[in-house]
Amino acid sequence: MNPIQHGEVFVTDDGAETDLDLGHYERFIDESLTKNSNVTTGKIYWSVLQKERRGDYGGGTVQVIPHITNEIKSRFYRNFTSPETHIAIIEVGGTVGDIESQPFLESIRQFQHEVGHENAMLIHVTLIPYLKASGELKTKPTQASVKELQGMGIQPDVIVCRSEHELDQSLKDKIALFCNVPNSHVLQNLDVEYLYEAPLAMERENLAKVACECLNLPCPEPDLAEWNEMIENLKHPEREVKIALVGKYTQLHDAYISVVEALKHGGIPSRTTVDIQWVDSELIKPETADSLLGGVSGILVPGGFGVRGVDGKILAAQYARENKIPYLGLCLGMQVAIIEFARNVCGLNDAHSIELDPKTTHPVIALMPDQDEDGDIGGTLRLGSYPCVLDPESRAYRVYREETIQERHRHRYEVNNDYRAVLTENGLCLSGMSPDRRIVEMIEVPEHPWYVATQAHPELKSRPNRPHPLFQGFVEAALAAQKS
Ligand code: GLN
Repeated sequence: MNPIQHGEVFVTDDGAETDLDLGHYERFIDESLTKNSNVTTGKIYWSVLQKERRGDYGGGTVQVIPHITNEIKSRFYRNFTSPETHIAIIEVGGTVGDIESQPFLESIRQFQHEVGHENAMLIHVTLIPYLKASGELKTKPTQASVKELQGMGIQPDVIVCRSEHELDQSLKDKIALFCNVPNSHVLQNLDVEYLYEAPLAMERENLAKVACECLNLPCPEPDLAEWNEMIENLKHPEREVKIALVGKYTQLHDAYISVVEALKHGGIPSRTTVDIQWVDSELIKPETADSLLGGVSGILVPGGFGVRGVDGKILAAQYARENKIPYLGLCLGMQVAIIEFARNVCGLNDAHSIELDPKTTHPVIALMPDQDEDGDIGGTLRLGSYPCVLDPESRAYRVYREETIQERHRHRYEVNNDYRAVLTENGLCLSGMSPDRRIVEMIEVPEHPWYVATQAHPELKSRPNRPHPLFQGFVEAALAAQKS
């Protein structure tokens, strides 16, 4: 999945590679989702085609309706029998009128018909554009998309209006009248200063009350104390810290969205705003490192694939180690830290990862002996949650405060175990291992104020109300470095 097209690839505990929206859901609802939470058109067609090949349709003609729509609906019902499932929130992405969305819209129409209107509510999110020249908010696009939905037999129960400006009651009434919903079911969704304010803004618009009314459910008073406190901390920072994020897609912030969010979360408990300095790794050279990285209090090298920009990341890891700047390496960020350490501390001059230089004489990052080098490029990654046992003497243990942790992975290469001895003899601490001790999961440099790297992607598990310990530890170390 190319980050330029897709943004970040989010990974669930059970190893699904999904759209980054799923990460936002996890951060907002503070629940870990699964591969069942992400449905794509590709998955639907794949499954229909497999069923057809297996003869499940008895050689009948396979059509969008009913085969594709039934397959989509089966995903809506997937967790229906589980006693924990009371409500499913299903986002149908895209725009009304998209060719791609049509079977999905037909499926939600059928779904509501099957389970009954009292058991399924449809929320339609629309944009209310603001025309600067005339100072007007326009309701026509909302009316037009609702008309289109009605033409497909779908009547939204609630209309949520995205808007830059306050919608007055007369505008809401107009939308209600032309879109055929009660006045109290037109809710505004104004731009908020901090993303995490959105649920509070929707609560002020009574979304929960309206939803409970539609579904005939009791609506108890929500307990928003923790969320409110988090927002207060976010909105009233007491300090700021500069952290360099060294990547190759620095123009495209969506490619690192979970890392950015995790850094923000890491600053919340200490009321710190993290000022991210985006540093393009391709620009880092021995002669530019000082000017690009000299002014920051922390350096983070995130995950990545391919050779472009990797020399700059290796230099960033070296710069952090030598100048005692707190360092957090994530996945490739750990691999470059090892390459750098092998080269500059252990004296293995051409140490590299075989992904990036297959001819290196010191493949410190390589495939495990049992890994298959052939196979589809999309099918050979280590994906999903894996356990890691921390060395009780390590900094990692001090921040996690747990011996066995679980983190999500998405990578192909591992630390080459043939080099463990030389790395540790030269002072690197292998602070986290798989429980069978076959895989190095975390490393750190003990002779450094804070130099920690992990083969996993801890950013995927950080939540605004529960910052990830590594990010919190890193931001706090950067704060300390800034003071000293
Ligand atoms: N390219 C590296 C690997 O496949 C690191 C991947 C990553 O950073 N997610 O092992």
